[in-house]
Amino acid sequence: MKVIDHIKNAKGKTLFSIEILPPLKGENIRSLFDNLDPLMEFKPPFIDVTYHREEYVYKKKEGGLLEKTATRKRPGTVGICAAIQNHYKIDTVPHIICGGFSREETENALIDLHFLGIDNVLALQGDAIKSEGRFAPESDGHRFASELLGQIVGMNKGKFLDEDLGNASPTNFCVGVAGYPEKHFAAPNLKADLKYLKLKVDMGAEYIVTQMFFDNKKYVDFVTQCREAGIQVPIIPGIKPITTKSQANVLPTIFHIDLPTELTDEVEKCKDNAAVKQVGIEWAVQQSKELIKFGVPTLHFYSMGKSDPIYKIGKELF
Ligand SMILES: Cc1cc2nc3c(=O)[nH]c(=O)nc-3n(C[C@H](O)[C@H](O)[C@H](O)COP(=O)(O)OP(=O)(O)OC[C@H]3O[C@@H](n4cnc5c(N)ncnc54)[C@H](O)[C@@H]3O)c2cc1C
Repeated sequence: MKVIDHIKNAKGKTLFSIEILPPLKGENIRSLFDNLDPLMEFKPPFIDVTYHREEYVYKKKEGGLLEKTATRKRPGTVGICAAIQNHYKIDTVPHIICGGFSREETENALIDLHFLGIDNVLALQGDAIKSEGRFAPESDGHRFASELLGQIVGMNKGKFLDEDLGNASPTNFCVGVAGYPEKHFAAPNLKADLKYLKLKVDMGAEYIVTQMFFDNKKYVDFVTQCREAGIQVPIIPGIKPITTKSQANVLPTIFHIDLPTELTDEVEKCKDNAAVKQVGIEWAVQQSKELIKFGVPTLHFYSMGKSDPIYKIGKELF
């Protein structure tokens, strides 16, 4: 079932959803299920699974020479989605990225998802390769999420790359896209960013999932500005409980977001990470309670591979 239909069927009640990462290469899928099992209590109607492209690693060869090799540390997005749908009978939302894919590889990946009965995708530009710092598309790939979205929407109308395909059976994906309450780091200003967000919605994106934020005012202002810009689709807030002291610096570095002083003051006072985790849980619960009052369609928790804090938050809310 489509994410947008889950939201419609909830008739204004806030849903619980999560984003998970595929396990590191070599890990067992059982550990992922062990992590997810407790969260089933909150009846997530859908689970997002991130996509991680290749990284470059340098291996020392005989004679001291370094060999550069590409490796994907977290493969398996499609397999995990299919396994979750099979095991829990819950819809999944694989993240589909522009980076590393030609248009044909994108088409083939979407055909696989369609055959597996996956009805949803989140269309993204994707992170840059870690060592490269800047996003670069494949020569025959997409640069922006809107271009990728165009391909998916085209396939939903039976339009495949091979124009000679007559009577092609259309796919039927519900497509979500990303939005940034604190602006995407590469956008010159929020207004410019919103222009391209609106483009994605005008092209057929049916909902938006936000980058994590720790100050609800940023989300509320973002929703207001989206509505003023004519973006009317549901805007799902992304919530991440802070769990370690180092995240107070790491999260702003990676995700280009601010942490409120009140929160960082509390984190600084903590003697260890167990205390930080507690602060993070309480902050996320408070944020979530306010967001439910605001009427958000879904609370979307970034688990980053650890369900324990999300379980404690869910217990307070659902
Ligand atoms: C909810 C969520 C989930 C994510 N999941 C993943 C994941 O699984 N894997 C992963 O690798 N990354 C993931 N990311 C990270 C994301 O891929 C990066 O933030 C990326 O830099 C931007 O992706 P986007 O889809 O928002 O890009 P886009 O919408 O393409 O926007 C990228 C930038 O280009 C600008 N822009 C957009 N269109 C145009 C245009 N036509 N002309 C000029 N400028 C334009 C935008 O303003 C923005 O600054 C996720 C992010 C979020 C918020």
